[in-house]
Amino acid sequence: MTSGRWEERIARAQHLSAKHTFAAELLKFYAHVASAQKQVYTGVLAACGDVRVRRPAGKLREELDLTILLPEMRGFLGMIGQYGPTPLAGAARELAGQGSEAWVKLLTTWWAAPSDGNTAADAQRKFCARAILTPYAEYLAEHTEPPVLEVMPRICPLCGVRPLLGVLRPEGDGTRRTLVCSLCATEWNYGRIGCPGCGEGSETNLAVYIAEEVKQVRVEACEKCRAYIKTVDLSKDGHAVPMVDEMAAVPLDLWAEQKGYRKLQANLLGM
Ligand SMILES: [Zn+2]
Ligand SMILES: [Zn+2]
Repeated sequence: MTSGRWEERIARAQHLSAKHTFAAELLKFYAHVASAQKQVYTGVLAACGDVRVRRPAGKLREELDLTILLPEMRGFLGMIGQYGPTPLAGAARELAGQGSEAWVKLLTTWWAAPSDGNTAADAQRKFCARAILTPYAEYLAEHTEPPVLEVMPRICPLCGVRPLLGVLRPEGDGTRRTLVCSLCATEWNYGRIGCPGCGEGSETNLAVYIAEEVKQVRVEACEKCRAYIKTVDLSKDGHAVPMVDEMAAVPLDLWAEQKGYRKLQANLLGM
């Protein structure tokens, strides 16, 4: 990935925010976040170099260079304080006031065990950690030799975190599905049919739902474990940027929630 990928995400967020009123506010905020993430990514790239190295499978998170991230932290939190929704902005300002010792603790704890937080306050602090660590994780993944996969794993083969979404790409007469890691954005092949939550492969237990407003995104839900993910179908919209289109497809989350499914992994904005 190059920093151009961030530009692509920002442009797509701006495009979709003008098109979908139901997601306009969150996409506008995301565009600010992605632009700050691009800056972090560029800094990491400058400090660590553009070389691909071999890293043991699943161990990406054993590495964490805070000397690159900490100097970015104040500016990053300032951006969230300025553009974030009210409670999150407040949490970012509070965190900014706590200084580097608190930041080290937050970043190392979250990196060791990424999670979404149990209370609203916890979730807001974890959002800040995830948002600044994502470009670092993407840098590491992009600069690691791709792992050789003998099975189709349900968690990221590089960093061990759950997938955020699926992507369908045209291939031959049909489409091929991959999963995208919710932290380092690594993409790996996963069968066309099959629940990424529990591995269920029987079509009768797998439901697909598409909403009129966002036709390029679908919900794939599992009757067995009740988990769902959203999959972005690039054969329906070649301009889609999976991570951003997933975020924009809010009506699908509402549908899934109504049906009692739970999302396998929340996106950066907590949906
Ligand atoms: Zn990953
Ligand atoms: Zn399942």
